[in-house]
Amino acid sequence: MDSLVCSSCREIFPLDTPITNCPCGGILDIRFTPSFPLDRIARRAPGLWRYREAIPIRDDDAVVSFGEGFTPLIPVTLHGVSVHFKQEYLFPTGSFKDRGATVLLSRVRELGIDEIVEDSSGNAGCALAAYSAAAGTTCRLFAPASASGAKLAQIRAYGAPLTLLDGPRENAADMARTAAESTYYASHAENPFFLQGTKTFAYEVCEQLGWNAPDTVVLPAGNGTLLLGAYLGFADLVSAGIIRKMPRLTAVQAARCAPLHAAFWKGADVPVPGGWNGTIAGGIAVARPARGEQILRAIRETGGTVIAVGEEEIADAGVLMAHRGFFIEPTAAVAAAGLRKYIEYSRGDEIIVSALTGHGLKAV
Ligand SMILES: *Cc1c(COP(=O)(O)O)cnc(C)c1O
Ligand SMILES: [Zn+2]
Repeated sequence: MDSLVCSSCREIFPLDTPITNCPCGGILDIRFTPSFPLDRIARRAPGLWRYREAIPIRDDDAVVSFGEGFTPLIPVTLHGVSVHFKQEYLFPTGSFKDRGATVLLSRVRELGIDEIVEDSSGNAGCALAAYSAAAGTTCRLFAPASASGAKLAQIRAYGAPLTLLDGPRENAADMARTAAESTYYASHAENPFFLQGTKTFAYEVCEQLGWNAPDTVVLPAGNGTLLLGAYLGFADLVSAGIIRKMPRLTAVQAARCAPLHAAFWKGADVPVPGGWNGTIAGGIAVARPARGEQILRAIRETGGTVIAVGEEEIADAGVLMAHRGFFIEPTAAVAAAGLRKYIEYSRGDEIIVSALTGHGLKAV
């Protein structure tokens, strides 16, 4: 049966229960069996809703969509090796977060909720604000006062009520959680429906490779919504018998905020929480990723690794990609910076997929 399952206490709830977390505080996952009618999919519009039977939204009328997705996957030769880059910055709000937002807001509409709360000053906030505007839903956002200008301007432009709070990022999360007690916590980091959108990244990659899986996928990771989405998506295709093996999932973090990198190389099961600094890759500066254990498990289970890159390496990778014609924000350059290190020990005969996750116009 379609359901929500708590990753801590294992309690099971019907899928239509309007909760983001388990009452015990645990993270919820979705149990749902997708199907892939390949010839029907091939005839549909090139967007992520072409995988309609794989997305657990029952009511077609609830779907909130701008026709997003099916972003181009193009090969680029980087340091002598071919890498397929998925152009995730070409989404309506300028980042892959639209994958999660289209499914999460569809869920919100299906539940008949007219106000949501989220803590993000970045691309998740932009995406939820835009899809809320389209859905006619009020999207109340909480962000640290230190958040950067362009993304706040974009959030405000969509008309989302925004509250700026002094102090660390956690203050915004606490405020959002409190405010959500009377509404719905549409956290991109915790709400499992967000991952039901980001998983379409994997479906698109495989379809664009002729329904084949790549060998390795290299992605930036903070909260891991793209990486965990990719994990779920590839796992769905393995279960359905469409691809044979999981790609190795490799995460790249900024060395100045690398709780997953530290845990991975220490052999720890949970992210290393303390001692992190600011980085130009603000979109992945997440000291305590809520799904950190799941991220580490996905990387280890698929035989991937975690790479950390310095500030200068990130800036250099941004320049390198721009000189190839790809205008991306610093957070998105983290993947390209990590690839430089990955390629040094790649055997060279593998199919590598990566992503350009956010638009450069967000960080001019
Ligand atoms: C959100 C974001 C990421 C990282 O996504 P996580 O879900 O935090 O791992 C990477 N790049 C950009 C541009 C983003 O906005
Ligand atoms: Zn629980």
